[in-house]
Amino acid sequence: MAKDEYLSDEEVDTLKALLDEQLASMLENTRENVNTLTETREAESDPLDVAVTESNRDFTLRLADRERRLIGKVKHALQRMQDGEYGVCESCGEPITYGRLMARPVAAQCIDCKTEAEQLERRAQVF
Ligand SMILES: [Zn+2]
Repeated sequence: MAKDEYLSDEEVDTLKALLDEQLASMLENTRENVNTLTETREAESDPLDVAVTESNRDFTLRLADRERRLIGKVKHALQRMQDGEYGVCESCGEPITYGRLMARPVAAQCIDCKTEAEQLERRAQVF
């Protein structure tokens, strides 16, 4: 495998800055969501409001759940960066292209493995 297929130090730095930024803004969002939850709980009064609040809360919790998973992915990517494994596909060990990582810095698989995993996932959902 050619050495230049791997990320250069500057490329890793650029991607690290992206991940750090993403992590900071997600942590900020999560804090805001928690605040919103606490506020709406206090404001419950008429039954219609309560119903709206309940569905808002469901939505917020679902969102928070997704956010938490994404935060985990970002942390995982930063950890792999520290270990010097970042930018290498977790499934096949081939380098992940810089373009793919710029579009999706948390990517842990090359596009081929990702596509395959998604196809398997979709098939699993059908049955
Ligand atoms: Zn792969």
